[in-house]
Amino acid sequence: MDYQTLKKNFENHRFKTAYFATKEEAADYLVKTVRGEVVGFGGSMSAKEMGLYERLSETNTVLWHWMGPAQETRFLARDATVYILSANGASETGELVNIDGTGNRLAASLFGPKRTIYLIGKNKIEPDIAAAMKRARNVAAVKNAERFRTKTPCVASGGEKCFDCNSPERICNATVILERPMKGMETELLFIDEELGF
Ligand code: SF4
Repeated sequence: MDYQTLKKNFENHRFKTAYFATKEEAADYLVKTVRGEVVGFGGSMSAKEMGLYERLSETNTVLWHWMGPAQETRFLARDATVYILSANGASETGELVNIDGTGNRLAASLFGPKRTIYLIGKNKIEPDIAAAMKRARNVAAVKNAERFRTKTPCVASGGEKCFDCNSPERICNATVILERPMKGMETELLFIDEELGF
């Protein structure tokens, strides 16, 4: 991971960044800096691999639709003061890409919480926005579709690639490219020098 390039380009875009060698160090940082908040999580394998739900629940109210009635929890998480998610792709040039099927994660990343925190493993980083978009669709979305076992051609092909399907079970319904922090939201990117999530 070339953190100096990431720091230069993302901070030039007014994002706050931090580097962690391991997911444990990143989790320790979050335990120290997120306290007494209502924390919402996106569907994030990175958060799961970091054990964040359990660790942050000790000092916060954590709302995660993977840990409770899904739709009800998604609605409650709209009132989160801090929102934690990962990125499906990040470009070294300073942009983030995320794709959603339901939209709760994208919505919270754009408006509502005072602070959003992205967990970005080294496997998410691509040289430019075109490659980050390609990764988001052909790697992250395909693996997520496999996780949900959707009836979509990407799953039927054994995870070969995205076929830009029109299936009713398509999980790629909206794509957000975050070029700068949204107004009024502190947006912090934790670059973690390990493979993390999809
Ligand atoms: S658009 Fe369809 S084929 Fe492509 S990754 Fe999404 S669900 Fe799979």
